[in-house]
Amino acid sequence: MDTEERRVSLVTGGSRGIGRAICLALARPGDVIAFNHFDPDESEAEKTLALLEEAGVTAQAKKFDVADPAQVQEYLGQVVAEHGRLDALVNNAGITMDGLLVRMSLEQFERVLRVNLVGAFVCLQAAAKIMMKQRSGSIVNVSSVAGVVGNPGQANYSAAKGGLIALTKTAAKELAGRSVRVNAVAPGFIETEMTKTIPEKLAEAMKASIPMGRAGQPEDVADVIAFLCSDAARYLTGQVLHVSGGMYM
Ligand code: NAD
Repeated sequence: MDTEERRVSLVTGGSRGIGRAICLALARPGDVIAFNHFDPDESEAEKTLALLEEAGVTAQAKKFDVADPAQVQEYLGQVVAEHGRLDALVNNAGITMDGLLVRMSLEQFERVLRVNLVGAFVCLQAAAKIMMKQRSGSIVNVSSVAGVVGNPGQANYSAAKGGLIALTKTAAKELAGRSVRVNAVAPGFIETEMTKTIPEKLAEAMKASIPMGRAGQPEDVADVIAFLCSDAARYLTGQVLHVSGGMYM
């Protein structure tokens, strides 16, 4: 982030998994961290809130669908009205609805695009307006190795994550002149609720293909995102950092 003062960050899908680790990696005492989620209940979000409060952060959370532009704008407006600025946005919320291409319904394709890509666009656009006025800010989009090399059974997800990389580069070009940086990370196989749904045999095969010989942990991704949001990355924009233990190189 481009300020040494109290930082205000917004993380989508912050209740669990990689999103929770991102909230914690960004947390410095005195900071403000706001996140949203779309879990059926508040239990995971409450755990993240408690961990953030322990870290000395002013934390707030709200349940809403990141694909709903009205709710995104309302929440972002509320955070900025309350805390006066927005230093970092991490577009992390994401879902999978896997199926082979020939059997994939249009609804299945569109819903995954809507959450992973349109949701990120809506947040990015709303944040960009604020950050351009501030002339500072860092936006990080959470893509995936699937968005770079494709993945059988994930036509919808790969399309969304590939689109997110193109969106990152275009936004980086448009916003660079106002000192707003936009980057992406492309995680490989990270152990979370999302990857728990992968059949065991396939999961084992995926892990075996990782040169570093282990699955990633949410913190492995979160630490790279914290770097991208920090002043240490001040001359870095439009980049995709592959956090995959060498799965993609
Ligand atoms: P997860 O399922 O554990 O967590 C997803 C988070 O997104 C939750 O907080 C959930 O509430 C939120 N979310 C889901 N749908 C939402 C919606 N419509 N509106 C708002 N919030 C919503 O998943 P994870 O593994 O932590 O994944 C986080 C991100 O990392 C996703 O974008 C995912 O595509 C990406 N990713 C994960 C992996 C992996 O191996 N786990 C690999 C590459 C990329």
